[in-house]
Amino acid sequence: MTATAPPQVTVVGSVNRDIAIRLPRLPRPGETQSSCGVTARIGGKGANQAVAAARLGARTRWCGAVGEDGEEVLAALAAHGVDVSGAVRLPGTPTGTAWIFVDDAAENAIVLDAGANGLLAPDHVPALADGVVLLQHEVPDEVTALALATARAGDAVTVLNPAPFRPLAAATLESVDVLVVNGPELAGLAGSASVPATPDEARVLLAEVPGVEAVATLGAHGALIQRGRHVEHIPAPPVDAVETTGAGDTFCGALAAAMAGGAPLVEAAEYAVHAAALSVTGEGAQESMPDAAQVREFMT
Ligand code: ATP
Repeated sequence: MTATAPPQVTVVGSVNRDIAIRLPRLPRPGETQSSCGVTARIGGKGANQAVAAARLGARTRWCGAVGEDGEEVLAALAAHGVDVSGAVRLPGTPTGTAWIFVDDAAENAIVLDAGANGLLAPDHVPALADGVVLLQHEVPDEVTALALATARAGDAVTVLNPAPFRPLAAATLESVDVLVVNGPELAGLAGSASVPATPDEARVLLAEVPGVEAVATLGAHGALIQRGRHVEHIPAPPVDAVETTGAGDTFCGALAAAMAGGAPLVEAAEYAVHAAALSVTGEGAQESMPDAAQVREFMT
């Protein structure tokens, strides 16, 4: 990355340390158990999506907050090619941390401490005048709202992945160019009690969300793209899935990278579907994200 070139993709979002603890079974109240092993990884939707875009060759900047203990996390993002110069360090606060307990039956229980992510403030976010600006729902809503509005006021294209799902203010939605939702998020957005299981069911729910370009990701069914009244289905290429953690984040990062490179939405979604399919063939989230050469080869 050259020092002067502006970022093509700016992610404003979270970063977490994910501490996965393996146990024979999940602990009961009051119980102490010895773990069978601990794995520490870098996660958080913001960081994951930034890594996905950077690995695919987009000049990518991550803007978010870490605590006093965050240098290692920032170094890990930088090692993936992410520009972390827009990160803020908040004294007296821990970096966001997820403790993920996984038992022998692959059941899990997760404790999430938002830490510095929850203290990111609107004035921590730098100018967002161009490129693709990508946000999720793991930082305070006022940050998301302001970042979207600022990006919109400039020449930037805004992409929002409202995960985890919370209802969106109408003013926030007005600043979104492309909304990316998975099945449960689409159900939340459309006010439906049932999660779409097929592209046809998702198509019905998308029709409840008019006025915004929207992409619905549907796991092994691929993705639906809604532009105006037109909806297109992009099937997922068949792969041997090993672990789907981070598939949605790979999709969002790849979509933003392709859009930043000038691809129209449907073409960008096709690229993202292939990148995300490759990501489910390996373990971990960031660890299994493909690079641009792998996606190009997979698409030919
Ligand atoms: P996760 O929470 O596991 O990261 P998500 O629920 O946010 O994922 P999904 O819709 O499950 O998002 O997956 C995102 C994209 O990943 C899909 O649109 C698809 O392109 C790809 N994908 C996911 N699972 C598979 C699979 N089994 N085979 C091929 N592609 C897949």
